[in-house]
Amino acid sequence: MSGDAKGKLGKHAVVLGSSMAGLLTARVLSDQFEKVTLIERDELRDDPEPRKGTPQIQHPHVLLAKGAQIMAELFPGLFEDLVAVGSTPAEMSDAAWFHSGHWLVRAKTGVIAYSQSRGLLDWKVRQRVRALPNVEVMDRCEVKGYLTTPDNTRVTGVQLHRKGEAETTLDGVDLVVDASGRGSQTPQWLEQLGYPRVPQTLIKTDVCYTSRIFHRPKNHQANWLMVAIYAEPPHGKRVGMVFPIEKDRWLVTLAGYLKDHAPTDDAGFLEYARSLARPDVYDAIKDAEPAGPIVQHKIPGSQRRHYDQMSRFPEHLVVLGDAVCSLNPLYGQGMTSAALQVMLLDKCLRNQPPGSLTGLAQRFRKQVPSVLLLPWMMAMSQDMSHPEVEGARPPGFGFMSWYTKQIMSLAAHDEDVVRSFANVQHMLKSPATLFSPGILWRVLTARPPEGNSAGVSGASHSS
Ligand SMILES: Cc1cc2nc3c(=O)[nH]c(=O)nc-3n(C[C@H](O)[C@H](O)[C@H](O)COP(=O)(O)OP(=O)(O)OC[C@H]3O[C@@H](n4cnc5c(N)ncnc54)[C@H](O)[C@@H]3O)c2cc1C
Repeated sequence: MSGDAKGKLGKHAVVLGSSMAGLLTARVLSDQFEKVTLIERDELRDDPEPRKGTPQIQHPHVLLAKGAQIMAELFPGLFEDLVAVGSTPAEMSDAAWFHSGHWLVRAKTGVIAYSQSRGLLDWKVRQRVRALPNVEVMDRCEVKGYLTTPDNTRVTGVQLHRKGEAETTLDGVDLVVDASGRGSQTPQWLEQLGYPRVPQTLIKTDVCYTSRIFHRPKNHQANWLMVAIYAEPPHGKRVGMVFPIEKDRWLVTLAGYLKDHAPTDDAGFLEYARSLARPDVYDAIKDAEPAGPIVQHKIPGSQRRHYDQMSRFPEHLVVLGDAVCSLNPLYGQGMTSAALQVMLLDKCLRNQPPGSLTGLAQRFRKQVPSVLLLPWMMAMSQDMSHPEVEGARPPGFGFMSWYTKQIMSLAAHDEDVVRSFANVQHMLKSPATLFSPGILWRVLTARPPEGNSAGVSGASHSS
């Protein structure tokens, strides 16, 4: 590897996978390498349509405000572009949230989230990446393994396969980044190279998303732009959500924990919506015209691959995104967690000595747990509030569950609490802010919420 006169860290970096983690990685690497090759197994068309390698994009994708902030830094003007093609910016107060047995008070929080189909978001980001002069996109090309130095201590390239063609290689590469998602084959490829097995954790929740796009009824009137009815553990397992997406449509999902999954036939879908803790999702869709088929995606649970714990790991290789940590999607953290890992990579690259990548792979993998701590803890604590979810509860879990319940109870009427909660949930502020003296006092002296558990969110159809 060698840097160049313009201060680049290397000549050539390769990224596996062109979904969100891969796209953001390519953007960051384009500052540090003369050339970046983004390799994708699927054909990448210039449109927002779903593709085989990312089936999840047919389901709602909440982009947390922290993730949006990072993307806006990497791609100035991205959200203005998205709004121009139908994305809806929404304040927390635009959403009706039924959580922990009551509606959250509709407080102005200053936290803005953009609602659009995931396909639209990916398409706009992909266009930005494709426009970078030193990024080359190789689609319809599958990575089949790593090339290494003879002693296997350093990754030097990748083996490639294009359908109908003989296998080829891309060698002499300075850095390889695996952003190929939950199905990443790095664990197997490393074992074949003589490395130990990467330790893994799975918090099994057997969640299933069943989703359908609807045309938003012309006469629909509600006091929300989006609505979410959350399961109330320990008994509730069903979630229903309606999100606005481009072309004046709704993306509606019915999600169930622990194998309590929604059916994929029309009547079963509606019946499941009717069974939710509140009728708002059912009321919204019962007369709405479908704009597509019912699609389903099963997620076994949140999964971690602990590359940081391996006793040996090759140089010049980085693994990030869902390939490292694939979270229960119900908390909307996947893309933001990928963005945080990409920003960590950016920081590690900027801290390298000029023209050298030595030690980068080790430093990055050791620091990944620090950026995953918050999303992982948030997902795990909510998953584990279902008693059927197996796994040792961490010390203090009982107190944290009680505290969270108190916070959610206060959120039924206390606007300050909702503001703090929104900032934490969107990863803009540390959870420690929920323990500030003002909030702690309210938690300790709180009485059960009154009045807004039985009502409706305000949704109605005008006739
Ligand atoms: C149902 C569902 C709902 C979700 N909802 C949300 C949400 O609301 N908010 C949120 O932030 N996140 C959500 N997520 C998570 C989100 O989809 C991911 O975290 C996000 O896409 C980042 O993943 P990634 O880029 O690491 O991997 P992926 O999105 O899985 O992409 C991997 C890419 O690598 C390619 N690839 C795989 N193997 C190879 C190979 N060998 N060679 C070349 N290319 C390869 C694939 O074709 C694909 O393009 C959800 C996930 C699911 C399943």
